[in-house]
Amino acid sequence: MTPTDVNDSTSVTQATESKPLKTKPAHAPMNQFQIHNEQLVVAGKTMSQVAELLGQTPFYVYDKSVIERAVETLRQILPRSIHLHYAIKANPLSGVVNHLAQLTDGLDVASAGELSTALNSGVAPSTISFAGPGKTNDELKKAVLAGVTINMESDTEMRRIVQIAETLDITPRVAIRVNPDFELKTSGMKMSGGPKPFGIDSEKVPNLLDELKSLPLEFQGFHIFCGSQNLKAEAIIDAHNKTFALAETLKKHWDKPISLLNIGGGLGVPYFPGEQRIDLNPIAENLEALLARYGDSFANTEIVMELGRYLVAESGLYVSQVVDIKDSRGETFVITDGGLHHHLAASGNFGQVIRKNYPVAVANRMSETVEKHSVSIVGPLCTPLDILAQKMTLPKIQLGDYIAIFQSGAYGASASPQGFLGHPPVKEVLL
Ligand SMILES: *Cc1c(COP(=O)(O)O)cnc(C)c1O
Repeated sequence: MTPTDVNDSTSVTQATESKPLKTKPAHAPMNQFQIHNEQLVVAGKTMSQVAELLGQTPFYVYDKSVIERAVETLRQILPRSIHLHYAIKANPLSGVVNHLAQLTDGLDVASAGELSTALNSGVAPSTISFAGPGKTNDELKKAVLAGVTINMESDTEMRRIVQIAETLDITPRVAIRVNPDFELKTSGMKMSGGPKPFGIDSEKVPNLLDELKSLPLEFQGFHIFCGSQNLKAEAIIDAHNKTFALAETLKKHWDKPISLLNIGGGLGVPYFPGEQRIDLNPIAENLEALLARYGDSFANTEIVMELGRYLVAESGLYVSQVVDIKDSRGETFVITDGGLHHHLAASGNFGQVIRKNYPVAVANRMSETVEKHSVSIVGPLCTPLDILAQKMTLPKIQLGDYIAIFQSGAYGASASPQGFLGHPPVKEVLL
């Protein structure tokens, strides 16, 4: 593969001359939940029932069956030999982790806290991997004792692992997290290419492998993670092609077969108007071709894809209740008991450049036929950043209605500043 530096071919071509009627881009259909008597239903329960079950709004509710469907879809479409790992960072709720521990082939953790959650799920420690910059000696010691694979993020981390292992008389399982010289194009978050705090620059890896040969470490292979939240099959395919080519090159500097190649993940879900669900078929076809092409090099190598968001995002709703409604100079504001302190991403403050609306519904007024109005839905925080929906067209809202934000199963509660302004914490439930 020759890396070409052409402009992103995936960008939408601009309409020229005879402009068609401008239609507003819409959210992808949120059809993962049932509707009954105009109520949004999760696992047979309406949102008011879930609220009573939990004793409060706001809450996050996650639907087990939607998580199962995401895993099944991947299993059906991807080559059979691809192992699926769940990256706990996306949703560390123990019920969610335990459920995915049963459904996937391993768990990826990024802190001692997540390591503990993963171990408690009962999966074999050998199927757990631990990545992340800045692992403390205490975290490394726990990882070595537990027997998980440590994805090393720097040469100094490697040497610290060796020192720790000597005191414990254990041979740690390690992999090298590589910072490749390419990036995952059109990604929500890029985590490779150029100078990065993640992984070891690919050009440094050959020397490191030389050093590794004489160290008391059990070298597993490579971890090459390029980015997150990608909806373009072409971009994922491009990254996969470059990842296999890089792994093949690096492998030549190791004298034995490698047992692990983690090719990252990056599969996204549609959040904003105009976004569509990613087409897995071309990605799967390309992986089949890569497995055939590199079959000799990686015959006894476990190929892992690690996914967070794709496995859990669609399963989750964030639900709050309407506390107040007011008009201000022609605009209607609906104020709920939930906001950015529980769901930073939906407020647009978790890595977005321009704020866009998540898909939002009035969970007790799901009829398609009612008259709709433009409203803004905000949280109770005394800051203009606390927006859940900006000028969205929704059924007429009344006090006590339930506002549901879709696509909220990943990077929700654990990725939000719950202490900010001292409101009550959110509750979470897996149904
Ligand atoms: C964040 C992260 C993931 C999960 O990313 P998603 O976009 O949620 O799939 C996987 N692996 C590593 C190393 C990460 O940092």
